[in-house]
Order: sequence, then structure tokens, then C-alpha cells
Amino acid sequence: MIFELKPKRDTLIENMRKKAMNELKKFWGIRWEKNIPRIIVWKTRKDINNFKQQQTKDWFIGEANGRNVFLLDRKNFDKESCHKYSNEKYYKLIKHELSHLFFEILSGGKETPYWLNEGITLYSADQINQFPPINGFSNFLTYHSNSGGDIYFKESGFAVELLIKNFGKRKILKLIKSLSTINSEKEFKQTFKKIYGFNLNYKEMNKLLKKCRK
Ligand SMILES: [Zn+2]
Repeated sequence: MIFELKPKRDTLIENMRKKAMNELKKFWGIRWEKNIPRIIVWKTRKDINNFKQQQTKDWFIGEANGRNVFLLDRKNFDKESCHKYSNEKYYKLIKHELSHLFFEILSGGKETPYWLNEGITLYSADQINQFPPINGFSNFLTYHSNSGGDIYFKESGFAVELLIKNFGKRKILKLIKSLSTINSEKEFKQTFKKIYGFNLNYKEMNKLLKKCRK
């Protein structure tokens, strides 16, 4: 399929992108001054489906790769998705998608583990509190190389938040940076242990969660 692009003026989105980029450059410790990300707007659900060559779910509103961020038009947000539009929500969406691009750079192009990828993008875009707080971890680790469904969003953000609150940002960035040479879930868990000093499993994560709630 062939698509036609034309430039669009939207000061609101332009300013959102600028603000998000400045905040993300600090968060990720990456200077990104040249060839900065483009934003490409999908007008309708039909546009999204054509672009993706598949029927997409009504919650699907954006994606990112390379230096491109794709988003559903803010003006059709309510009509073409199950989400409710607000400037704040749209800003966080832009920041989330841009953050995926920073992840891609730091990880040397690796997308997995998906829970870590989604978790840190949710965290860096201040989107974690949009989910109900959890009492324990029981499923995020199933989303290593499996990204199906939207359920994994719910725990992954809290897992990343917990790691950052307890051990700082430096360790998690180190973990993401090491992904470029990691080729399996087993290798990932070994690297995790080397960096954090404990095994990555629900038992350890829940222990940490309980400790922090006291
Ligand atoms: Zn995402």
C-alpha cells in the first residue's frame, strides 16, 4: 500500500513534542538534537487499519519506531478510540511514544523484554497512576517476548517504578543498555541478577513491594 504525506501545522502538538523531548533527554541521559522524531498523524481508525494492514482495537492509538511517532488525530480521539481526550492525556501519549524511541536507542534496537520497555515508557510519561494500585505481581514476567493484549501494561509500570525507587535510575538504564548483547530471556535474568543482586521473579518482587509499603 502506498501512502501520501503532507506537512501539518499544529502548535499545540509542536509544543508538546518540544516539552516531552526536553524532559526525556534528561530522563534517559541521551542528547538528541539532530534528526529529531517526527510526528505522523492518523486521521481515522480506518487510516490506522490501512497503515497497519489489520483491524486494530479501539484502545490502540499510537506507536513508534526509528524516528517516527504515529498518533491518532487529537481531534478524532473520542470518536475513533475508546479513550477520552484531554490535553494532559495526549501530552502523556506523545511522551510515551517518544520514550519508546529512546529505549530503542539505548537498547541498541532491542524491543524486549516488553514489560521493561512498556514499564519504563509508562513511568517516564507519568502514566502509572492511571492504573489501579496493585497488591502483588503475578503476570508481568510473562511479557518478555510476548506483547499480546494490553493486560501487561498494568503491572509493568509498577515493577519499573519499584526498581527505580529502590535502586535508582542508573541501574535500570544500565540494564536496558546491556540488552544489545542479550539474546534470550535466560541471559536477561542473569544480567538482571548481576546488576540488582537478586533473582528476577514474583517472589522477590513481591518481597520488595511489601517492604516498601511498610
Ligand atoms: Zn508503549
